[in-house]
Amino acid sequence: MSTTWQSSTWQNWGRNVRSHPTRVVEPRSSDEVAAVVRAGAEAGLVVKAVGAGHSFTPIAATDGILASLRHLDRLLHHDVATGRVTVQAGISLHALNRVLDGLGLALPNLGDVDPQSVAGAVSTGTHGTGARLRGIAAAVVGARLVTGTGDVVDVDEQHPWFGAVRVGLGALGVLTEVTLQCVPAFLLRAREEPARLPALLAALPELVEAHDHMEFYWFPHTDRALLKRNDRVPEGTERRPVGRVRHLLDDELLSNGAFELLNRAVRLRPSVIPRANELSGSLLGAREYVDHSHAVFVSPRRVRFVESEFAVPREALPDLIAALQRWFSRTDERVSFPIEVRFAADDDVWLSTAHDRDSAYVAVHQYHRTDPTAYFAATQDIFTAHEGRPHWGKMHTLDASYLAERYPRFEDFLAVREDADPHRTFANPYLQRVLGP
Ligand SMILES: Cc1cc2nc3c(=O)[nH]c(=O)nc-3n(C[C@H](O)[C@H](O)[C@H](O)COP(=O)(O)OP(=O)(O)OC[C@H]3O[C@@H](n4cnc5c(N)ncnc54)[C@H](O)[C@@H]3O)c2cc1C
Repeated sequence: MSTTWQSSTWQNWGRNVRSHPTRVVEPRSSDEVAAVVRAGAEAGLVVKAVGAGHSFTPIAATDGILASLRHLDRLLHHDVATGRVTVQAGISLHALNRVLDGLGLALPNLGDVDPQSVAGAVSTGTHGTGARLRGIAAAVVGARLVTGTGDVVDVDEQHPWFGAVRVGLGALGVLTEVTLQCVPAFLLRAREEPARLPALLAALPELVEAHDHMEFYWFPHTDRALLKRNDRVPEGTERRPVGRVRHLLDDELLSNGAFELLNRAVRLRPSVIPRANELSGSLLGAREYVDHSHAVFVSPRRVRFVESEFAVPREALPDLIAALQRWFSRTDERVSFPIEVRFAADDDVWLSTAHDRDSAYVAVHQYHRTDPTAYFAATQDIFTAHEGRPHWGKMHTLDASYLAERYPRFEDFLAVREDADPHRTFANPYLQRVLGP
């Protein structure tokens, strides 16, 4: 039976979104989810499925019934020969990676962290980096969805809703099962090294094409950057993970412990941020190691932050970075967090930020105790001037009138929503803003 308790306060990982659900439920099967949805609809209450609360937008927030799928976390079917794996949709990416390891399989690509639920990651278009690779939703080949009328619908690649359910924003129903197309497990050679932004931008087209997963971090107010290149190694290559001491120094101390202290300190004296960034950019040294793909993709993130990220056509990136540089040279805002730049291939998912165009992703972050409003507003203006599409789970202030222009299949998505959730059982203010009433 599903667990139910009366309200408490719910908040997201970034601590910038809070809500007060009237009831929290933890169903353990698709049938129990369907019962929750029907009961909610009858009582006139909104039902929101929630994963790990790792979205920075209020996309999962509700004052109605909050459904946590944390008990729906099992492997249901697998076929190693085809690489297809069906899991319950509440499983975390962390747990999924362990399950796949055991089967000799892996997801083709991942983002920076792994606490997210599979359903949450898929629903907002979570992605990693790689010019020939796509976001996690593009690996979905089937899903089981409980609709707003409490019906349980299996959506496969032939189903007319297939283009919509993969990045469904939680607007079409509750995903209870997801089938993923995986690949044989693989090791990656990771190379990280400091770089200068002008040289990096000059070499960018070759770098993006030459490496399986390439990304860089640019330290604002400076021309310093950190370049990361991850490439598959030939079969038989030995694993050479980061040593314990190096891991403690780079990942725990410089990227987390010291970075937290630095962010606390510079809040009191923002004027020192440019010099602090110069120092951070020079301290991060070069390193190389070989490890399981998920161990390379995922890093610990212990300094809490808020984030905004946009996808732009890949060819717009140099222009966009030049516009950001111009803005930094004239603003009084001081930003201690590096700007992250990633890449993805075009896909056919209707509301994927990389829909139908090879994309560059540019992410801006701010320490969670610092007000990001002015910084994110200015960068949003720059992103939208370059046809930017906001990540559905990361902060932005855009609405349906802008988004309809950016997504050629926007109206088709709304038509599926009309069928799947005619009474708006899954609505909330964020969905009302981005999809319209
Ligand atoms: C530290 C950090 C690092 C991040 N790194 C990356 C990154 O590298 N790349 C990237 O693209 N994003 C990244 N993100 C964003 C994150 O991956 C997305 O916001 C993702 O949606 C979070 O998953 P979640 O399980 O926490 O979902 P939640 O935030 O809890 O929910 C997100 C949406 O999914 C819906 N949902 C949840 N479960 C279901 C379900 N069962 N059925 C239907 N809808 C459901 C919710 O209703 C909501 O609409 C990061 C976020 C953080 C905090």
